[in-house]
Amino acid sequence: MSADIVIAGLGVSGSSLAYALSNKGYKISAYDPVKRYEKACGEQVSASYNSINLLKKSNSIITMPNDISIYVNNKEVSNINFGGNTPWYIINKPNFIQYLRDSALSNGVNIINKPWKNERGIITVDARGPFSGNLKDKILVKRYIVETEWDPNHVILDFRPNELGLYWIFPADDQGKLVNLGGGFVNLWDDEKLTKLIIDYAKYNLKKVKIKNAKAAPLDVFSPYRPYSDNMFYVGEAAGLVLSISGEGNRPAIESSYALSDAIKRHSIEDINEIKYDYIRFSKKVANESFLSRKLFMFIYKYKKNFDMVNILSNIPKWFWYKYLSVNLEFNDVIKLGSDMKFISSIIKGLKP
Ligand SMILES: Cc1cc2nc3c(=O)[nH]c(=O)nc-3n(C[C@H](O)[C@H](O)[C@H](O)COP(=O)(O)OP(=O)(O)OC[C@H]3O[C@@H](n4cnc5c(N)ncnc54)[C@H](O)[C@@H]3O)c2cc1C
Repeated sequence: MSADIVIAGLGVSGSSLAYALSNKGYKISAYDPVKRYEKACGEQVSASYNSINLLKKSNSIITMPNDISIYVNNKEVSNINFGGNTPWYIINKPNFIQYLRDSALSNGVNIINKPWKNERGIITVDARGPFSGNLKDKILVKRYIVETEWDPNHVILDFRPNELGLYWIFPADDQGKLVNLGGGFVNLWDDEKLTKLIIDYAKYNLKKVKIKNAKAAPLDVFSPYRPYSDNMFYVGEAAGLVLSISGEGNRPAIESSYALSDAIKRHSIEDINEIKYDYIRFSKKVANESFLSRKLFMFIYKYKKNFDMVNILSNIPKWFWYKYLSVNLEFNDVIKLGSDMKFISSIIKGLKP
């Protein structure tokens, strides 16, 4: 066995892990067939201690929008203005990942630009994101970089409960000239149809639309949390850590990698059970968040025929969105939402016979 730690995939999670474990005396090999990360993304990262730290070090923050609008079927239902204290970061993600990879490389990590083919270390980590396992049950998500006129402080998240998906418009610069706009829907793998939907959405919502770049990638919103199985640790999207409702996976990828690196550093590398135990303990917050988001998503998925989900989503109170967007959602909040009379009456009103 030539490496202590083998990492499969150097996207957000794998690069964060390689970075966090580099220079600590481990022999690390990390595999990724793509030399410079270029996967499609909305390039948004929510704030957490580790994410802010890394984003600042890597100098990859583009802008920090304060004004987040929640839409349902093209109608604004809530607006959160963080008043200069936003937890939302728009980044240059390829530069961010390159920084992590370059730092890891200069600290001795052996980066191999080839697909991982079951090479093993004492610890092996699957960080292949949506490419871990087969693509069945994943969603095709497409994003466009569009030249337009846009308030660089403004974000739109536009939920489509009947189509089980969403559109987004994020600023892509701090000048109001570029946006990152896209969408994805369950069971829509037809690129042509998805393209038409997104272009129509762009034309409807933007003053002008000049497409600079288009890219699509899969996203896994269904898989449950899987920190470890069959002698393999999992981080990021491969571990099922995506917030299914909004498709957020960048911060969970960073957080789970830091949780695993902290667990590894605490123990002898052979103590797999101890490492496993601490990894689960340290990633509890993000695992809970992803669990709650998936529950909400699965509720919509399962009951959209029985309930008017547009009505229900439109009545989610502002405090709930505030907590969701500012990375503070807890179990108690879901219980509180369940006891909110206005919300309950929206469910009763939305019951389909
Ligand atoms: C269009 C789109 C928009 C999105 N927008 C946002 C957003 O705005 N904010 C947000 O938080 N999340 C967003 N997400 C989700 C987010 O991009 C992912 O959840 C996040 O990148 C997951 O990180 P990861 O490290 O787990 O996987 P990834 O970042 O996907 O990295 C996986 C890596 O594995 C590599 N790989 C693949 N196959 C192999 C192999 N056989 N061997 C070795 N390596 C391999 C890939 O090249 C890649 O570098 C979006 C997703 C999509 C598709």
